[in-house]
Amino acid sequence: MPVLRARDLRKEYGRGEGRLFAVDGVDLDVAAGETVAVMGPSGCGKSTLLHLLGGLDRPSGGEVWLAGDRIDDLSERALARLRRTAIGFVFQSFHLMEELTAVENVELSALLAGRSPRTARRKAEELLERVGLADRARFLPSALSGGQRQRVAVARALINEPAVVLADEPTGNLDSAATLDVLRLFEDLHAAGQTLMIVTHDARIAATADRLMTMRDGVLVDETRLTGGTTG
Ligand code: ADP
Ligand code: ADP
Repeated sequence: MPVLRARDLRKEYGRGEGRLFAVDGVDLDVAAGETVAVMGPSGCGKSTLLHLLGGLDRPSGGEVWLAGDRIDDLSERALARLRRTAIGFVFQSFHLMEELTAVENVELSALLAGRSPRTARRKAEELLERVGLADRARFLPSALSGGQRQRVAVARALINEPAVVLADEPTGNLDSAATLDVLRLFEDLHAAGQTLMIVTHDARIAATADRLMTMRDGVLVDETRLTGGTTG
């Protein structure tokens, strides 16, 4: 059973003359433990696809399945719970809470998912250690570099042990050195069996994937297997 499955997935914006098919009939399966990279020109629908797969956005048609359950037709309430627990998001611009410290940013997701403050703090500290930021736990995001902020965001994405981590241009705002840090972190996650889907323009990030999908005008136009990993 794939962790993530899409069937004839569609998203339209606008009406009449201005109608745009941002995602125009996508089928995909991501197997447990697989890392999939998605590349394609700006505006081809990569972010929209990721948002549909992660329940941040509702499709205009088609189906999304997560760990065997159909999720595109869930209530807002059920979707919100799913986004907090079953899916980890990493955004290009980090989306950290600026008034919270690194450890508070990471533990917040666990608190919202109903963990006790003690457990949430312990897990947050463990994850900051895992991403190499144990010594920055009490820093505010404004005191961290871009690469460090993104590592905090990755720790936050992992805290509820999501079935899949969806990353949208995770190194798009980072310099080359920070990109390599985040790259190594994704490689570690991959080695640990985390299922990952990464939208990226960076060929080095894409090269860490098991499979590379290329998107154009709302559809997947090419798929390349990069390793002999598991098949979906
Ligand atoms: P990518 O991530 O590949 O750059 P996007 O998924 O952001 O592409 O966008 C795909 C297309 O959908 C683009 O033409 C974009 O302008 C359009 N689009 C994205 N979001 C919206 C929106 N909320 N309203 C209208 N059009 C949108
Ligand atoms: P980035 O440039 O990092 O991809 P954007 O500001 O374009 O980030 O945000 C991407 C989309 O995700 C936006 O439509 C935003 O509303 C949505 N978004 C960002 N953070 C969250 C979140 N925590 N929960 C739900 N939606 C979010």
